[in-house]
Amino acid sequence: VKKIPGKPIVAVDIGGTKTIAAVLDTEYRTLARVRCLTCADEGPDCVIDTMVKAIHQAVKRCGLSLVDTGGVAIAAAAIIDLNRGLVTAAPNLPGWENIPLVDILAARLSARVVMLNDASAAAIGEHRLGAGRGMDNIIYITVSTGIGGGIVINGELYNGTDGCAAEIGHMIIDINGPLCKCGKRGCYEAMASGTAIGRMARERLAAGRSSVMLELADGRIDKVTAATVATAAARNDTLAEEVVRDAGFFLGIGLANLVNLINPQAIVVGGGVSKMGERILSPARKSMRQHAFKLPVSTVRVVRAGLGTDTGLIGAAIYAREVGRVTA
Ligand SMILES: [Zn+2]
Repeated sequence: VKKIPGKPIVAVDIGGTKTIAAVLDTEYRTLARVRCLTCADEGPDCVIDTMVKAIHQAVKRCGLSLVDTGGVAIAAAAIIDLNRGLVTAAPNLPGWENIPLVDILAARLSARVVMLNDASAAAIGEHRLGAGRGMDNIIYITVSTGIGGGIVINGELYNGTDGCAAEIGHMIIDINGPLCKCGKRGCYEAMASGTAIGRMARERLAAGRSSVMLELADGRIDKVTAATVATAAARNDTLAEEVVRDAGFFLGIGLANLVNLINPQAIVVGGGVSKMGERILSPARKSMRQHAFKLPVSTVRVVRAGLGTDTGLIGAAIYAREVGRVTA
């Protein structure tokens, strides 16, 4: 294991919709930032070209070239084989199956490349610099379109045997529940994510419930999303509040499982849905307390993430610097 020295790191966050490349200094401040569309539907080649372009642009904006940096740290929305630098699967990136992204990028960029799951990266970011600072054991979960997670045990990221641990979004909450993007039923992500919130709202509207959500969506039930629910709930709409409460209940079931399994000091909640704040966290805590053992649930704190949308970028850069596992 070779440490990446005190040079800026290029961090790349690759998601289903957008790709962000940023140059971060040794204090993890952003020196430059390039944001572009991932072109996920066009397949891996297009996505990789986009990444390479974004990386070069970001570095150029700082008046640097890649050799002046410590390397490239990638946070990817994917199931990653950390040991081999493979993207094994990625539900939001069509065509990505066992793609050796680390080797491909290392060759194209002539740089050192490290890759980890985006939520794992965010977990490291929150532990080192965010809401989990100074704690030994934390779990990070991001609740947005899907649910991702990362586990820090004794101050270190827990990667599992293959490097694909903490797929928290696919813990099964209800074996007979709604179909998940992964092909299984009743996953945490299918029950408590933004996608689930939108689905619950649409189902109840279709069953004839009245709500300001319909107005917000121009009278079209199919246009109602989690964002519509959030807006309506903020206006104290009865149905929207009910949907958020029910999603919070399922969020709490997953938290209870995590509390019983890991006994963490804190569960740090990030992602778009967490912006609903206490409206969703309060019912989540209540159901967590109902479903977990007393001792671990009396210890754990459920708190909102502290670092904002760049958590993954920052965490990936920290991980690259600390672990420095490279293949170039
Ligand atoms: Zn699933």
